Amino acid sequence: MSYSSLPDHFAARLEALQAQDLYRRRRVVEAVAGTRVHMDGRELINFSSNDYLGLADHPRVVEAFRRAAGEYGVGSGAAHLISGHTREHHRFEEELADFTGRERALLFSTGYMANAGVIAALTDRHDAIYEDRLNHASLIDAAQLSRAKMKRYAHVDTTALAALLGNDGSRWRLIVSDGVFSMDGDVAPVAELAQLATDHAAGLLIDDAHGFGVLGARGGGSLEAAGLDPAEVPILMCTLGKALGVFGAFVAGDAALIETLIQSARSYIYTTALPPAVAAAGRAALSLLREESWRRDHVLALAQHFRAGVMQLGLQSPPSPTPIQPLILGEAATALAWSAALARTGFLVQAIRPPTVPAGSARLRVTFSAGHTQADVDALLAQLETLARGAGGVT
Ligand SMILES: *Cc1c(COP(=O)(O)O)cnc(C)c1O
Repeated sequence: MSYSSLPDHFAARLEALQAQDLYRRRRVVEAVAGTRVHMDGRELINFSSNDYLGLADHPRVVEAFRRAAGEYGVGSGAAHLISGHTREHHRFEEELADFTGRERALLFSTGYMANAGVIAALTDRHDAIYEDRLNHASLIDAAQLSRAKMKRYAHVDTTALAALLGNDGSRWRLIVSDGVFSMDGDVAPVAELAQLATDHAAGLLIDDAHGFGVLGARGGGSLEAAGLDPAEVPILMCTLGKALGVFGAFVAGDAALIETLIQSARSYIYTTALPPAVAAAGRAALSLLREESWRRDHVLALAQHFRAGVMQLGLQSPPSPTPIQPLILGEAATALAWSAALARTGFLVQAIRPPTVPAGSARLRVTFSAGHTQADVDALLAQLETLARGAGGVT
């Protein structure tokens, strides 16, 4: 490969990434049918998608998308505050507010932008933001954008967080956490975070990208699973590109929060609204999420079946009650080798390497969908057993 168009220091950086097994490559998906993807002319069972409920290609979701595209066209044509806010967006926001038990909800074009918008709108250099060390990159970047002081506490360590909060003279404090951690699948101690927020008159934002639709009796997410009242977590962010199978994100809360965001969240104001057809597809997916609880029961049962299997194989997998099941392999090269071996035998399981995860904790991130069968999971386990034997056991 030649890097001749770049100044030398960029070329050196690319070469260093290659040498450390940290170079990232995209693979072209040629076709998708449910949990099956075609790549390099071969069909693989996809264990690397966040379409947890198998809704991305559900006929009702696809039909809603098609109908709205016929009615409104594909592009929304403008930002929400100009002429891009259609009846599909508006109704979807009302339905999301109702589903999450909050006064209002506001659609954003992506989760990354929702986090940037809400955090930068609510804090400035006089404030402090507290973040779990394993929070999603978008939450870290959002804090930097806000110019507030950022303090990171050890993963799910509420004792450390309490100590930090006790020593803070900032004007206002905002606690920010993933609800379900995206690369580990474990659940944040949301009830304790809510208590700390109350005790220290701090705000609390939960990013429930991976809990929404999956956890809780009605699929309400990690807050519902913990039995929390919406008032205890005043700012909820969820994405629509994971369990809901579409695209985009929303923030839900009381009317004052949502009006503040409409007036001042820059990633809301200065960007084109989601295509109306995406909102229509999201509405169809939300109604399926409400009607078909078997989808979350099934995906959670598959994940636990997989866990039981990997424990028997002696593989290292930290506890996770969600469809995200990490297999920690250590070195980036090992994770890449396992991922490549799985691909050769018909399984798409991506290797996750630093800086997405801490150095020395490169892993396979295995995710499940309601579209998988137990036979799919057993086939993956059989292949992992072969790999674990070949590696002489992995710890
Ligand atoms: C995926 C994800 C996001 C970003 O959402 P996009 O809609 O993909 O931009 C934010 N937070 C968490 C925890 C995520 O997993």
